[in-house]
Amino acid sequence: MSENKKHFETEAIRTQSENTQFSEHSVPLYLTSGFVFEDSEEMRASFAEEKQRDLYSRYSNPNVNEFVDKVCKMEGAEAGFAFASGMAAVFSTFATLLDAGDHVVSCSSVFGATHGLFTKYFPKWNIECSYFDIDKVETIESLIQPNTKFIYAETPTNPGVDVLDLEFLSAICKKHNLLLVIDNCFATPYLQQPIKFGADLVIHSATKLMDGQGRVLGGVTVGKKELIREIYLFSRLTGPSMSPFNAWVLSKSLETLAIRVERHCENALKLATFLEAHPKVTWVKYPFLKSHPKHDIAKKQMKMGGSIVAFEVEGGIAGGKAFFDSIKMCSLSANLGDTRTIVTHPASTTHAKVEASVKAAAGITDGMVRCSLGLEHIDDIIADIEQALA
Ligand SMILES: *Cc1c(COP(=O)(O)O)cnc(C)c1O
Repeated sequence: MSENKKHFETEAIRTQSENTQFSEHSVPLYLTSGFVFEDSEEMRASFAEEKQRDLYSRYSNPNVNEFVDKVCKMEGAEAGFAFASGMAAVFSTFATLLDAGDHVVSCSSVFGATHGLFTKYFPKWNIECSYFDIDKVETIESLIQPNTKFIYAETPTNPGVDVLDLEFLSAICKKHNLLLVIDNCFATPYLQQPIKFGADLVIHSATKLMDGQGRVLGGVTVGKKELIREIYLFSRLTGPSMSPFNAWVLSKSLETLAIRVERHCENALKLATFLEAHPKVTWVKYPFLKSHPKHDIAKKQMKMGGSIVAFEVEGGIAGGKAFFDSIKMCSLSANLGDTRTIVTHPASTTHAKVEASVKAAAGITDGMVRCSLGLEHIDDIIADIEQALA
């Protein structure tokens, strides 16, 4: 890392594409599919990669480059590639790293679509996946096989808000010569930088807190230069790249990531503390509450506790539904990481068709509510939830 590295907030704002002839203060949108060359020699050298420049927006684009540079600085990564969505990042990373006959060890509580890739599409490419429970990390080593390529995890997890020890996972990977791939979407690079703890690749859905305003889809994978080079080569052929427009929006969004995430976390901690003292709430899970089973690990690897609070209302499925029907201001939605506070009932929606044992392993109970704290005034958020509980 260079001597003159500036603080997170400063890099987020001052990492910008080069000024153009108009000396704009705010980087403009380069809505172009292609780029022109001076002469045949420049064209030849560019395609031969002897000269670094943009050729075609499926490969790279000034707005996309700026977005990737910002995320690399935030995560302490050597290189990155940006995608049209978080799932495009997840899929392209997997497709690059894995060959037929390979094996992956993954935490059982991962994003639903990622789990769908493992169960629906991996088998047809003869790729196997073994899962470990969030509460049984001591079983991870026993799942490793000679053909295992990487360990995959998210922390904090969705929707259970459990925490995995990144240093511990990285030590296992080093011992068995595996890669560690982390989906850092819930924490954002402002709260947690998995590369510091030994991760090789970090994936984000930029759709969530990176945009933070529910406008655009995006994804990014950052990490070791030689791995990103392979992901780039795969992606420039297959075309999952981020659009210049979305990259332009997201580059501006990242300028305010630190200040937004800080407020999201403040609101979340205040709501979690309120809920913990409420008689109709059976339990509350939030990484920065002392009652969280992995509170010490959360404190070690996260700057603040994140924007998601999980809790259980009395009365099982019926109690959960009654709570949702009484909500007035918060949005009933499955999204997260928005300026608007969102409440989700996993048991009757996202996980309605999931087996009971799988739900239990992910920490989902019938009366469980997942709340993604927004940026409204905390008193208004609490007032809405308080009247719905009543
Ligand atoms: C939303 C999400 C994704 C997928 O991102 P999209 O941008 O919706 O494709 C992947 N991982 C996690 C943890 C997510 O929350």
